[in-house]
Amino acid sequence: MQGKCKRARVVAFGCQMSERDSETIAGLLSACGYDVLPHGAAAAAAAATTAIAAEGDTADGGGTAAPVADSAPPDMVLFVTCCVRGNAENRAIGNLGDMKRLKERNPGMIVAVAGCMAQEEGMRRLIVDKMPWVDLVFGTHNIQNLPAMLARVEAGERVIEVLDDSDSIAEHLPAIRAYRHKAFVNITFGCDNFCTYCIVPYVRGRERSRTEADILKEVSDLVDAGCREVTLLGQNVNAYGKGLPPLPDGSVPGFAHLLRAVNGVEGLRRIRFTTSHPRDFTPDMIRACAESERVCRHLHLPLQAGSDRVLARMHRGYTLKRYLELLDEVRSAMPDVAITTDLMVGFPGETEEDFLETLRAVAEARFDAAFTFVYSPREGTVAAGMPDQVDEAVKGDRIRRLIEAVNESAAASNAALVGSVQEVMVEGPSERDSSVMAGRTRTNKMVHWPTPQPPRAVPAPGDILNIRIEQASVYTLRGVEA
Ligand code: SAH
Ligand code: SF4
Repeated sequence: MQGKCKRARVVAFGCQMSERDSETIAGLLSACGYDVLPHGAAAAAAAATTAIAAEGDTADGGGTAAPVADSAPPDMVLFVTCCVRGNAENRAIGNLGDMKRLKERNPGMIVAVAGCMAQEEGMRRLIVDKMPWVDLVFGTHNIQNLPAMLARVEAGERVIEVLDDSDSIAEHLPAIRAYRHKAFVNITFGCDNFCTYCIVPYVRGRERSRTEADILKEVSDLVDAGCREVTLLGQNVNAYGKGLPPLPDGSVPGFAHLLRAVNGVEGLRRIRFTTSHPRDFTPDMIRACAESERVCRHLHLPLQAGSDRVLARMHRGYTLKRYLELLDEVRSAMPDVAITTDLMVGFPGETEEDFLETLRAVAEARFDAAFTFVYSPREGTVAAGMPDQVDEAVKGDRIRRLIEAVNESAAASNAALVGSVQEVMVEGPSERDSSVMAGRTRTNKMVHWPTPQPPRAVPAPGDILNIRIEQASVYTLRGVEA
């Protein structure tokens, strides 16, 4: 295994999948003798991502070069990249560019790039041809080969190794988890939907499901190690199980079955999942959520656009009417559920009238929060080749108006909670102000309350408290212990 203790930084950009990948990468680096800084630099990146997401910003995440610029440079810097939108890519490219000078001063340092950008041919060529200071490039399908690739890099070779796709799933990889009390658990990899704007199916490959037994084993192991909340991860969790053989009892291993099975894990307090696809959310899945006491009352259900014409061109497979019916079904089964969504402006051909339909949909759906995105053409996708691309200034105007509408909806749904008592899972003292604690409701709303003063103990991450809500804003609730 190891000689001298080498130090590595893992900096993650992007969605929860990238965060989860960076935990595995950190685990593999540790098995190769690297100390991952600070105990899981992934933690810092993950924390930053969480903080940004909580602000209602884009899910592009909190990748940052700041941790890399400390006085004693690490022996290795590894970027886990994202390419879902142009700005995520630009941030990663900027950070990689900054590595040139650090590498000049520390020629022995290894610079590595992993993740979705490495899977994109154009970006990979740019990194390989224009960034000779990058020593290692690998993709989303060969993370498990990191130890072998790293050994070659340490022997002086430049290694560029990316697989186009994979039909298998590597189980039993080590991981350094960003948190003890909560964890991401992959249930599917890849996506078969090919929404016309989206690069994900090209860089994450075909949809594959883990077996229920492997998922349950991971959840139980996490709980044994102190985990209280799991978030089941997939690009379309509702498609879970496709292609898996029947379960030993003969039943079909779908998402509803999985939810009920995870709900049976003793010691687990909360189950979340993301992302749901409105087309594939069945009545049985709604029942499974409603019946399972550990499943949180929060659905992230991306709508994308309010215009049926735009939805059809996006290849989403539902109309606004169907989406709103689904919300009615979900709300009648779980009256206290919070609904969040993803919305996009400026998809090719989107007219002012189409956009107004998105604004009307926001009012009608009564969203609790939304991630709002400006459409960004991704090379190789169908929409990037559509002739009627929308002017950037028009997109800028629409995103401002959309954010206003979303904020109004979020403020109204939060204000309705003033006076109520909410069950809150503690995250810890607020990063910005340690005089207040931060935690989340079952509906995934961020709550702040005064940090207990000695002799009262400060609650630990994962503890569950009741908080009486006294004030509400667009992004947070404030209250006191009930
Ligand atoms: N699988 C999930 C998440 C995919 S990426 C889902 O289907 O919802 C997260 C969000 O990024 C998407 O929901 C979409 O709103 C946004 N997005 C994806 N591609 C984009 C693009 N080319 N431009 C702008 N936003 C995009
Ligand atoms: Fe992309 Fe659509 Fe798949 Fe989500 S469902 S990852 S938006 S192709």
